Amino acid sequence: MSDTQWHRLAIDAVLAELKADSRRGLDDADAEARLAEYGPNELEDRGGKHPLKILLEQVTSTMVLILIVAAIISGLLGKPTETIAIGAIVVLFALLGFVQEYRAEKAMAALKKMTVPTVRVRRNGKTVEISARDIVPGDVVELEAGDLAPADLRLVESANLRVQESALTGESEPVDKQTAPLDREDVALADRRNCVYMGTVIAYGRGLGVVTATGMETELGRIAQMITGVADPPTLLQKRLDTVGNYLALAGSAVAGLVMAIGLSKGESLSDMFLTAVSVAVAVVPEGLPAVVTITLALGAQRMLRRKALIRKLSAVETLGSVTVICSDKTGTLTENRMTVTVVDVKGHHLNLDARNHPAPGLVVSEDKADVLCGRSPVICLLLGCGALCNDAYLLPDPDTGGYALTGDPTEGALLVAAARAGLTRRMLEQSLPRIDEIPFDAERRLMTTVHRLPDDIRQIPDNMTAVSVLSVSRLVITKGAVDSLLPVCDRIWSVEGPVAMDEDGRQRIETANVRMAQNGMRVLGLAIKGKAADGSGRKDISLESDLIFLGLFGMIDPPRPEVKSAVQTCRAAGIRPVMITGDHPLTARFIAYELGISPDGEVRTGEELNKMTAGELAETVDRVSVFARVSPEHKLRIVEALQANGQVTAMTGDGVNDAPALKKADIGVAMGITGTDVSREAARMVLLDDNFATIVSAVEEGRTIYENIRKFVKFSVAGNLGKVLVMLLAPLAGISLALLPLQLLWLNLLTDGLLGLGLGLEPTEPDTMKHPPRSSREGFFSGGMTGQILRIGTVIGLAALTLGIVFHDPANPSDKAWQTMLFTSLAFLQVGQALASRSTRTSFFSRALKPNRVLTALCLFVLMLQMAAVYVPYINMFFGAQPLTVRQLLLCAASGTAAFILIEIEKRLSPAGKSA
Ligand code: ATP
Repeated sequence: MSDTQWHRLAIDAVLAELKADSRRGLDDADAEARLAEYGPNELEDRGGKHPLKILLEQVTSTMVLILIVAAIISGLLGKPTETIAIGAIVVLFALLGFVQEYRAEKAMAALKKMTVPTVRVRRNGKTVEISARDIVPGDVVELEAGDLAPADLRLVESANLRVQESALTGESEPVDKQTAPLDREDVALADRRNCVYMGTVIAYGRGLGVVTATGMETELGRIAQMITGVADPPTLLQKRLDTVGNYLALAGSAVAGLVMAIGLSKGESLSDMFLTAVSVAVAVVPEGLPAVVTITLALGAQRMLRRKALIRKLSAVETLGSVTVICSDKTGTLTENRMTVTVVDVKGHHLNLDARNHPAPGLVVSEDKADVLCGRSPVICLLLGCGALCNDAYLLPDPDTGGYALTGDPTEGALLVAAARAGLTRRMLEQSLPRIDEIPFDAERRLMTTVHRLPDDIRQIPDNMTAVSVLSVSRLVITKGAVDSLLPVCDRIWSVEGPVAMDEDGRQRIETANVRMAQNGMRVLGLAIKGKAADGSGRKDISLESDLIFLGLFGMIDPPRPEVKSAVQTCRAAGIRPVMITGDHPLTARFIAYELGISPDGEVRTGEELNKMTAGELAETVDRVSVFARVSPEHKLRIVEALQANGQVTAMTGDGVNDAPALKKADIGVAMGITGTDVSREAARMVLLDDNFATIVSAVEEGRTIYENIRKFVKFSVAGNLGKVLVMLLAPLAGISLALLPLQLLWLNLLTDGLLGLGLGLEPTEPDTMKHPPRSSREGFFSGGMTGQILRIGTVIGLAALTLGIVFHDPANPSDKAWQTMLFTSLAFLQVGQALASRSTRTSFFSRALKPNRVLTALCLFVLMLQMAAVYVPYINMFFGAQPLTVRQLLLCAASGTAAFILIEIEKRLSPAGKSA
């Protein structure tokens, strides 16, 4: 089948060949059988790491290689215990790293799976939404602007369909598509006007296509041009931390050399000193770092997913933490997108409708309602009927609720519901007034137009729509859209007597009604019609949108989402400015912004005003004004650029095809999971699964938490390592040439960097995370006094342990190793205390506000248990060169172990609140 030249066949032949039915689509059983035969519709994923590769990376890391060499050399030097011990530690390190990386990798793979778009296909005679992975050859797919073509398709219908095929052909101008067969040999891919290929973008219009190839069988699959599955490049933070790691490795080598030199000068043997030097080097390097960063980011992304924010690029997690401005659409993000028509207004009639009975579930269409709505005014009926005709939404019976469910744009759904309440359904209307052409809605024109064939016999026009017969033509053009866009293209107005010339009075009346509704927070749509003779010409263009007869207005309410108000307050407390950017009327925008607390001063700027501004004025405006109305997608791009030029880190939401540039440009492009187009989702770094503004705010909170946790880990690890290195370097001054044995050092390193560090990475959000301003994006990783703190904590750890060792060190009794075991054990206690105090950067460990971190608590206990095993369990303690301590000695270790804890807690108390370090 893959060699069939689909573009040469007529539609019937294509359908016959594929055993498909363009109206019914496939049956479920058939689709399942085909899925089993052709496999899922996906390109082979070359991203993602194979577990073996992860393992290989673990055992080839510099640190593990050093250890392996050390193990071999120990063996050659006749120290089999060391060889075995180092070998065991290598295995443990590699295993720990592997488990962490593997979990991170799994988490990311799960996230990637979720970014597969959904597709509207016809199955069993109904339109259903399924995952793009599940479509099969023969499926009938509905396409509309903003969709990514999910497979290779032969078109069955095209309503002004234009497709951007640059992914395949390199041509960036969208190509017109049609359905007629092209009966020529060797038509190049770019010229196959009746086919749509996987990975291309529907730029305009609507269409219906039957799937001819899926997955690797598609043109995209064949040329193996990967658009998905590219592994995430390392994030800025990962790169920065890699550099830190490299510096520390250098420092480690230098210190190791120094320790070796000191040891040799004190007469220690070369073989002892070699191993010690290796252990010191290993102690300096925070080997847990890459694994902790990866897993903290990946698990953070998973936590965000639970809060309905899907991360598409890992780097978004850390950028989120420094967001200073969130630019949000209004409809659906700040409001519920549950539109209800509550006012219809035609010349001479202003009707307030009951907002109850909405949303569509439970909708009852009763005769008396129809009477109430239409009986008094045929024009109102005409308005409602035309609203249902110039419409792409559907109300489908919903067996779950027993009412109706809406598919499509809620604005249009509201019009359908209003019409249905007057007894006018789209299906019924389209039977006698079928749509023969259309110009789709776009956010630039803010208009949508459909053309319908009028029946020859007036009796075939539905009762409530007979008013239209005064036009006495064969085509009916209906245009609906924003009143300010519609009025300029109207030259008449429909009155009780029918169409009359539009005069200043009429215009004034419409504008006043528009303003009045918008002031009350309503979305207002105007509707106009005109008659037209059948002209036989094929293509229509926007010249249709002229000389129209203004029919009336719809006012719809769309309540603000209740949770957004507190999310806006959270933003303000966190030093983040919420900004509303909407295509809606400025007064509607102002009302909603005021309700939500986004713009207490009520200042609004429109797209038109932005057009007239110089760069300087724009820069000043975007820093001050928080509501922008009647803006088109290009304005969004300009606003983002101006904000960024002002040094703001900007999150920007978007759902349409044209929003993609702004989403790409923003520091965090945020797409909508429910209403967004595939194109916007591809361009975004984060997707809101519930389209909710409050979700962005939770994601920012998670972003801040993750960044803080990584900083906590680094601070913990570097300070702890500094402590151990100081012990090694300073001990010779007190006459102790080898303070800790190599195995003891390696062991401590494993317990602290490997286990405790991991626990810190999982720290829950601190209570005041959203109560201080965002971290500056220019701020270095070690800013806010972190270096000083590391030095202080490291010094305290080193001195506390060493003091104990020196006090109990008895040069006269070299076989008594109690001093060394105490030094060894107090370091374990010190780091457990350090980890516990490091849980929060500002809040006391004893504060009730701090949420528990059970993993860390469990790991602390586990570490102490392991340390006790290393000291008290026979053979194991021999292995570590440790000897059992007396109760008094052990208590002293525990007491000195509190030093780091106490220091960190005092520093928190003394530091001004909110200072993050
Ligand atoms: P927001 O940016 O707040 O989400 P929006 O993007 O929904 O707003 P648009 O969809 O661009 O705004 O709508 C702008 C204007 O276009 C609306 O105020 C309305 O008057 C008009 N409009 C919206 N939907 C349609 C439609 N389906 N047909 C005709 N006109 C529409």
